Amino acid sequence: MRKPVIAGNWKLFKTITESVALVNELKPLVAGNQGVEIVVAPVFTALSRVGDAIKGSNISMASQDCYWEEEGAFTGEVAPKLLKDAGCSHVIIGHSERRQYFGETDLTVNKKAKAAIAAGLSAIVCVGESLTERESDQTFNVIETQIKGGLEGLADLAFTHIVIAYEPVWAIGTGKTASDAQAQEVHAFIRQLIARLFGKPVADAVRILYGGSVKPDNVKGLMTQPDIDGALVGGASLKAESFAAIANF
Ligand code: PEP
Repeated sequence: MRKPVIAGNWKLFKTITESVALVNELKPLVAGNQGVEIVVAPVFTALSRVGDAIKGSNISMASQDCYWEEEGAFTGEVAPKLLKDAGCSHVIIGHSERRQYFGETDLTVNKKAKAAIAAGLSAIVCVGESLTERESDQTFNVIETQIKGGLEGLADLAFTHIVIAYEPVWAIGTGKTASDAQAQEVHAFIRQLIARLFGKPVADAVRILYGGSVKPDNVKGLMTQPDIDGALVGGASLKAESFAAIANF
């Protein structure tokens, strides 16, 4: 049995005060939910305070990115061990917005995933095709390249700390969700690919999340698909009520 993960990506929203208020509002709404791993990903500046606020609760915290070096002359970067120090247990790596606007590549995703795992964090590794790629029947090729590149050289054992998020770029922040069948088709492809690359036990155990306009009213259909093990949620994670409704699907 794979424990579902529902993760909220707060992107570049909310001050420290607003972030702490949001997580404090969320806590009682999900307090009874032991069946799901619930994760929130605030901006860097709010991590430490949100980290304090979630202590003793069933909510975990992710950062939205990390660097791959532990320390050094890398102005502006944040190392995985510092994220852990701030209270993170997870880090989102390779989100399509980072690939699109900040030059993230499969190689940097790979370096970050390895560094995150070495520091004891779980890596939520994002993959997904653009609309043009889907329309030109490139979806499976794109996903295969991203998975092979992003997870290259990872030992089977590292997979206890890897979560994959399939996020079709055309469905992120657009209000367009992939249909349950479209999402399931790609999730099944990813699981078969992981089985081919890392073996069936790893593939059977790895959690594969869907992301792209997940809302309280479409989460159930997605979660009933056999290869969908949770959701990475953007917009709907910014309100405690809607995120709780998704987490408590
Ligand atoms: C995301 O940020 O990863 C995401 C899926 O956003 P949204 O839910 O707003 O589409």
